[in-house]
Amino acid sequence: MVKRKLVVSTGNKHKITEIREILDDLKIEVISKNDIGFKNFDVVEDGETLEANSIIKARALAEKLDYIVIADDTGLFVNALNGEPGVYSSRYAGEEGNDKKNCEKLLKNLEGIEDRSAYFKTVIALITENKDLLIAEGICKGMIIKEGRGENGFGYDPIFVPDGYELTFAELGHDVKNRISHRALALEELKNILEKLL
Ligand code: IMP
Repeated sequence: MVKRKLVVSTGNKHKITEIREILDDLKIEVISKNDIGFKNFDVVEDGETLEANSIIKARALAEKLDYIVIADDTGLFVNALNGEPGVYSSRYAGEEGNDKKNCEKLLKNLEGIEDRSAYFKTVIALITENKDLLIAEGICKGMIIKEGRGENGFGYDPIFVPDGYELTFAELGHDVKNRISHRALALEELKNILEKLL
């Protein structure tokens, strides 16, 4: 049986593995943009929301392909900081992807502030072969602690404790995080969408 292809607009191997695991029982072959010669295909993510950025990324690649395409965008939204760092999560401290500096800046901006509530949000834009747009999203609420803890994960994981837990994402580790995270929830919704589509 020939499976329909789903191209993910990322070169991140961990993301591809996670998506493959969750969509494993669907009749679909998950491939990364790198697998089909689009390794250097990048777009400027200049949207003001996660949704806008995920759509920009998915549409740009979908224009070049006849496969289903998905793109995701994630941010951490801190309530006392009016939703900062939000869409700027990866470059909050100025440099793209400097996790340590991003966490330090966030902790500094929260110094003396009592309300530490925050949430991660992931939006996944899916473009069908007919260029229809579908959106899945997932939210994980929690608190920003005062000092980083834990060795696992990436990004803001050492300073984020999800609701219902006492350990940070970086202490909880891969298995727990992949059950409760914003990305896992968005991927579950994506799976529901794909089940109807296939
Ligand atoms: P991306 O859209 O997946 O590239 O995520 C953007 C930024 O959000 C990353 O560079 C991280 O700083 C942060 N981020 C995304 N997902 C997570 C997560 O699961 N834990 C901690 N930080 C995350």
